[in-house]
Amino acid sequence: MPTAIYDVVIIGTGPAGIQAAIHASRKKTSVLMLGRIENSALYNAHIENYACIAGVTNGKDLLEAGLTQAQSFGTEMAAEDVLKISQGEDQLFSLELESGREITSRTLIFSMGVSKKKLSVPGELDLAGKGVSYCVDCDANFYRGATVLVAGNRSAAIDGALTLLDYADKVYLVAKELQGSESMLKRLQESEIEVLEGTWVKEIHGENAVTEILLDTDKTVQVDGIFIELGSKGALELATQIGVQLDMDHFKYIDVSRKQETNIPGVYAAGDIVGPPYQMAKAVGEGCVAGMEAATYARKQKRAT
Ligand SMILES: Cc1cc2nc3c(=O)[nH]c(=O)nc-3n(C[C@H](O)[C@H](O)[C@H](O)COP(=O)(O)OP(=O)(O)OC[C@H]3O[C@@H](n4cnc5c(N)ncnc54)[C@H](O)[C@@H]3O)c2cc1C
Repeated sequence: MPTAIYDVVIIGTGPAGIQAAIHASRKKTSVLMLGRIENSALYNAHIENYACIAGVTNGKDLLEAGLTQAQSFGTEMAAEDVLKISQGEDQLFSLELESGREITSRTLIFSMGVSKKKLSVPGELDLAGKGVSYCVDCDANFYRGATVLVAGNRSAAIDGALTLLDYADKVYLVAKELQGSESMLKRLQESEIEVLEGTWVKEIHGENAVTEILLDTDKTVQVDGIFIELGSKGALELATQIGVQLDMDHFKYIDVSRKQETNIPGVYAAGDIVGPPYQMAKAVGEGCVAGMEAATYARKQKRAT
């Protein structure tokens, strides 16, 4: 029996993918969305800057509501990772999933986000979203008057620590070896940030919230939160398998047009994977455009065959 050809396959179940699924499904196309919500950057986040939703909302609740909404319009879901992608001479895309299942689609939407580099120390995963953060711009406001520690060696960490000075009462910066531009290092030196250089985070302690950081010198620092700023790596391996072009400046994001088109006809990208700012509002807007464009492309391609 020939396998079904989906009109739109979306890789990623974060806000970009979910919004793309809602818009593509409402255009009466067959849509499959792949991935796991617990791997979305939003899952452990607390959102208070998304228009029309007042107060602080749990990311997990938003994602679960979004999935139900997309499914109500006909989106199919598979909580699986994609391992390989190829494109045939017939222009259709073939995807191999972790279960071994193979999928065929007329169009693809990449919305795999960026994987934030982890410290991989005890306490980090358990306390993610409970004082462990990977996004200063997102979470600084929750630390007004608090004591925070930033872990990182490069300009992202220095910049994060300087930003946090506007919110927190006390900011520590822990680095094995600091590297940054002259002007940034000078600003750091002149600031009230307490720099602990030549040391690193060994463990993160706390029951339901971060309370203490143990350093590899066995010194402990009492804090309300830790920001891990080790830079980010885009989930780009899959995209480059079919020759999707990356941005020429950093080679870590997918290059897209204002219609979220990549250089490969029928392939779109949206959300964190196309670059900062890493914000839900941006991901949702781009997902909307990508979903509508992919659905239109698939319908045209079907009519032509
Ligand atoms: C701690 C924290 C706090 C934040 N706070 C805020 C905030 O206050 N306000 C705000 O606007 N934003 C905030 N953000 C940022 C926001 O969460 C992201 O900008 C948003 O989730 C990006 O959406 P996305 O859909 O592009 O990617 P993501 O939400 O990261 O989703 C990526 C999806 O891709 C899937 N995926 C990856 N690889 C594969 C593969 N090979 N096969 C199948 N699926 C795959 C994953 O499973 C996941 O479902 C925060 C982020 C963090 C980490």
